[in-house]
Amino acid sequence: MLTLDFHPTGRHFLQIPGPSPVPDRILRAMSLPTIDHRGPEFGPLGLKVLDGMKQVFRTRHPVAIYPSSGTGAWEAALCNTLSPGDHVLMYETGHFASLWQRLAGRLGLVTESLAYAGPDEHLPHAPGWRRGVQADMIEERLRRDTEGRIKAVCVVHNETSTGVTSDIASVRKAIDAAGHPALLMVDTISGLASADYRHDEWGVDVAVSGSQKGLMLPPGIGFNALSPRALEASRRSKLPKSYWAWDEIVEMNKDGYWPYTPNTNLLYGLSESLDMLLAEGLEQVFARHQRWAAGVRAAVDAWGLPVQCADPAVYSPVLTGVITPEGVDADALRRLIHTRFDLSLGTGLGKLKGRMFRMGHLGDSNDLTLVAMVAGVEMGLKLSGIALAGSGVQATMAHFSAHPVDREKMST
Ligand SMILES: *Cc1c(COP(=O)(O)O)cnc(C)c1O
Repeated sequence: MLTLDFHPTGRHFLQIPGPSPVPDRILRAMSLPTIDHRGPEFGPLGLKVLDGMKQVFRTRHPVAIYPSSGTGAWEAALCNTLSPGDHVLMYETGHFASLWQRLAGRLGLVTESLAYAGPDEHLPHAPGWRRGVQADMIEERLRRDTEGRIKAVCVVHNETSTGVTSDIASVRKAIDAAGHPALLMVDTISGLASADYRHDEWGVDVAVSGSQKGLMLPPGIGFNALSPRALEASRRSKLPKSYWAWDEIVEMNKDGYWPYTPNTNLLYGLSESLDMLLAEGLEQVFARHQRWAAGVRAAVDAWGLPVQCADPAVYSPVLTGVITPEGVDADALRRLIHTRFDLSLGTGLGKLKGRMFRMGHLGDSNDLTLVAMVAGVEMGLKLSGIALAGSGVQATMAHFSAHPVDREKMST
């Protein structure tokens, strides 16, 4: 039997970078009765969430909403636009970038990946997993593709395995500078609604997202934001698709309906999430996450541990990765913190297994929940016998105290 009474009292601290903690307001909205997805009440709900998601993606073009995980939306981006044997250029910023590449290979695409390979003091085996996209490498590679074999460039906006963002506008510039026709595809599964993302302005052709990160919902919704060029490519693309095919979805979405049963109760949650995010204002939402991230990084600096992201220009506002000292098993530390303090942290994925942990600062959080998270980590670090340079808790408190939120601005 599945028992959930392991946690006796108080809230569990779900500080992994997705699924993020879900606000009570959203959980309550999701408890409304399930309705007929072809009935008269459904259309307005469908239209509302489709319109709201366009605002969040900052696009005027269609957004597809799938009952799926983010991985499903990855597949949808590729199979809607490409044909068997097409070449795809991926940029490896971390574990999620490599999983997307693996998925592309399994679909029958020919993948090639670029990665930063310079020296690294702390993780010499994974230097590219500490930095964002190097757009000049993409430009150089595309210039050499004189036959135009490469059909798409794929980049992760916020690499959740490391806590590093990538400058998407610079990738569009690189593609244009090379005069190359490849489509630009962006995974913003954990970036959307917590880090600045501008679909139309940055010239992205297909964006991929999911519900359980910045949108503060449980897992179960996948998104694609499209561009006119992506829609045009979808008419020629030959990879097999049916469930993921944009044509029927976009057509039926015009009235707020879907060709199959959408996840009604998650859409109630999405409607509530959009009300919250758009009332706060996206700029304010991004500033809130930046402020939280700076407060959490202050703790890591005070402990004297390296932040996974080696380039301050691309620190993630969504999560912070921390490299543990050589010889310390980061997963043993995470287990200890979970057992003792009912706090879940993100694990080191792929090449980073055992070498780092991740602290999420997204979803239903506030200054005090984040101070508590930092306190839980600090106690765990000390219990693990790690010598700390100073108190992270003090540093986070000092940061939040010195940087008050402008409430007046927030209520406008
Ligand atoms: C979470 C995440 C994924 C995977 O999404 P699922 O919903 O687990 O399929 C892919 N890419 C990034 C950047 C993510 O954060």
